[in-house]
Amino acid sequence: MNLYELTIHEAHRLLRKREISSVDLTNAVLDRIGKVDEKVDALMTVTNELALVQAQKADERFKAEDVTTLTGIPAVIKDNICTRGIRTTCSSKMLENFVPPYNATVMEKLNAQGTVMVGKANMDEFAMGSSNENSAFYPTRNPWDMERVPGGSSGGPSVSVATDETIFALGSDTGGSIRQPAGFCSVVGLKPTYGRVSRYGLVAFASSLDQIGPLTKDVTDAALVLNVIAGHDTNDSTSVPEPVPDYTKSLIPDLRGIRLGVPKEYFVEGMEEGVKQTIENAISKLKELGASIEETSLPNTKYALSVYYIIAPSEASANLSRYNGVKYGFSHQDADSMWDAMEKTRQYGFGPEVKRRIMLGTYALSTGYYDAYYLKAQKVRTLIRQEFNQVFEKFDALITPTSPTVPFKIGEKMDDPMQMYLADVCTLPINIAGIPGITVPAGFVDGLPVGMQILAKPFAEETLLHVAYAYEQATDWHKHKPTV
Ligand code: GLN
Repeated sequence: MNLYELTIHEAHRLLRKREISSVDLTNAVLDRIGKVDEKVDALMTVTNELALVQAQKADERFKAEDVTTLTGIPAVIKDNICTRGIRTTCSSKMLENFVPPYNATVMEKLNAQGTVMVGKANMDEFAMGSSNENSAFYPTRNPWDMERVPGGSSGGPSVSVATDETIFALGSDTGGSIRQPAGFCSVVGLKPTYGRVSRYGLVAFASSLDQIGPLTKDVTDAALVLNVIAGHDTNDSTSVPEPVPDYTKSLIPDLRGIRLGVPKEYFVEGMEEGVKQTIENAISKLKELGASIEETSLPNTKYALSVYYIIAPSEASANLSRYNGVKYGFSHQDADSMWDAMEKTRQYGFGPEVKRRIMLGTYALSTGYYDAYYLKAQKVRTLIRQEFNQVFEKFDALITPTSPTVPFKIGEKMDDPMQMYLADVCTLPINIAGIPGITVPAGFVDGLPVGMQILAKPFAEETLLHVAYAYEQATDWHKHKPTV
């Protein structure tokens, strides 16, 4: 087996027995990046020098027997997570040369474990998009079919995991940006409960929805990464001081006594027949494993897309007002006045989707429209959240498709924002409610991946991991690899 194909837990076992070193593993991953990244364009920056220094340090720790499961393990980080001294572009011209003076909390946590960063990953500009085509630099390609999108906005992180350009990755999810691309690339992607993981140092898109989470080759690895990144942080007042359990304890292979609900609204109109069939097969498998399955209903689901496209752009319009060319990032110098400079900075620094969001949000928040749009959306958000709470009185977890379609063709939805937004119908409500969700590989339709999404109540990541693990152990979808 090639070292770059290893999972975290497999690599850890070999590192621990000193059968391989972190330098060996890191070199294997860097070689792999050298071979495949020019085909898939998953990465914005490859940090080879830093990686080798970190790998050597990790090997020292193995000598001193001062290690954890993530010590010496290569990781790719989405390019909206601040990394001290390493440029963090958000795949935007605005931040093309931005080098953060500090680390995001999740980076501090990974560094403390002795993790090795091999690169920063491509994404939709400022995490706005579902296809990675909104990157200001280049689109990432889906390794299962190079003519298709990998999903977004964590397209780069997902592809880097799917093609073994890393052992794991971190992404961010505001409306589906971890789960949808993970599903499109046939990897595991987990969006934690809002407040479970610190957002400090994550470049803000929509602050009441954003969450950082792992993209991994299997469910065990997702538990291992969550063990490290979860927890309260005094630098993020929205992070919650709930104790962090050992998530590996939830990796139980049978589902006896588990009550699963299947909300009918997630089998939406326009859903592809092959996707529906695949999820139905997965549900039969869950039943075989001992779970009870019952149809349920979340009628307010139909409002989720509208609510999201009011709340997310509103928060984005406020968050992105900081890019005015004064403190950091791109600055247009050839201007007649201060106002002209700010206008031109934003005109040339932002791409079309980001401008669309800022305009939508500014409109929704403006005097005279605030009550009709923003305030109304917040009220409906509460209803959506309450509806989930009620359903979780009856069920331990819910099962849905991650996306209504398989990966679509590059360019197919670029001229129709509404079609693009619909790619997230199954994932957006989860951010609105603040609950956790995971996607696991569930099969293929004509060689294209399908993901199954599992949802649970706030801070029940253990239930997600339990159901996901049992399913994974009973199938082998996660072992299929694209040929690049
Ligand atoms: N695709 C959704 C959007 O464009 C969600 C993005 C995300 O989760 N960051 O806003």
